[in-house]
Amino acid sequence: MNKKPTDLVKLTKAEMAKWLNGFDTVLTDCRGVLWLDKVINGAPDAIALLKTLGKEVYFVTNNSKNTRREIWQKATASGFEIDESHIIAPINSIVEYLQLRNFRKKVYIIGAEAVSKSLTEAGIESFGPGAEPTPDKLDDLIAQQVAKQQTDNVGAVIVGFDKHFSFVKLFKACNYISSIADCLFMTTNADKMLRFPAYRIPDTFALTAAVEACVERKALQFGKPNPEICQELIRSGKIVPKRTLMIGDVCEIDMLFGHKCGFQTLLVGSGPSSVYEFNVVLRSPKVNPELIPDFVVPSLGHITKLI
Ligand SMILES: [Mg+2]
Repeated sequence: MNKKPTDLVKLTKAEMAKWLNGFDTVLTDCRGVLWLDKVINGAPDAIALLKTLGKEVYFVTNNSKNTRREIWQKATASGFEIDESHIIAPINSIVEYLQLRNFRKKVYIIGAEAVSKSLTEAGIESFGPGAEPTPDKLDDLIAQQVAKQQTDNVGAVIVGFDKHFSFVKLFKACNYISSIADCLFMTTNADKMLRFPAYRIPDTFALTAAVEACVERKALQFGKPNPEICQELIRSGKIVPKRTLMIGDVCEIDMLFGHKCGFQTLLVGSGPSSVYEFNVVLRSPKVNPELIPDFVVPSLGHITKLI
């Protein structure tokens, strides 16, 4: 039997006050908690309230389609007061990883322009985003790749969300990783699917898995649920895991991340996949206990009404 999450709506005012006193730091996912296409009703007020109560707030996203600056601009324009340095995003984690290693080669990207933009800002050369033409003959593709591999000076391959993903990109990524000694292989996030009520969008997991299957190697993963992405904050003492709350809308990503880090976890019902999370994941008899949140609430905005 799964543990049953505590529904914040059912707590008394006194119990809510005790709950609020149970954490000093809040890490919150963005899409599905703070905004979808538009800001989610009440979310900016809830974040403002948490900050007024003295909570340190970080946004932690798996978005690999936008730079951290773009995410920060969206947050600010949506009414959230947050410092850009308090946004944890996979592209930035990758840039920091490469800088720590004094990386001087080029990066081949399966992913969005935002990845190359962030690398360029850090002085790292890269290529790959955008549509790739497919040669009619496979032999032409092989000849091009063999010739370029000698001179491209690639030292890393990054896989992120890429609406232009193709056989040509898969071919290139596999050949760089397989033919270059010590070639780094990284991915921005492990989200499988963006689940909307009427449709789904395949996310980065499948693209990374395609490359992994060909090179028989696992990519280093720089998004949630990898707990490494906030270990520096924990090591430096800025975050005390037991006194930290992770808020998210996806069990397999946000709740798993929170539990892996030793955080308390709160699942909101305002995401595009919330019907699936609440009706399938939480009700499944065989679910991994790390996917089950400690607390649930219909939306972040409800917190302001419950105090
Ligand atoms: Mg989300």
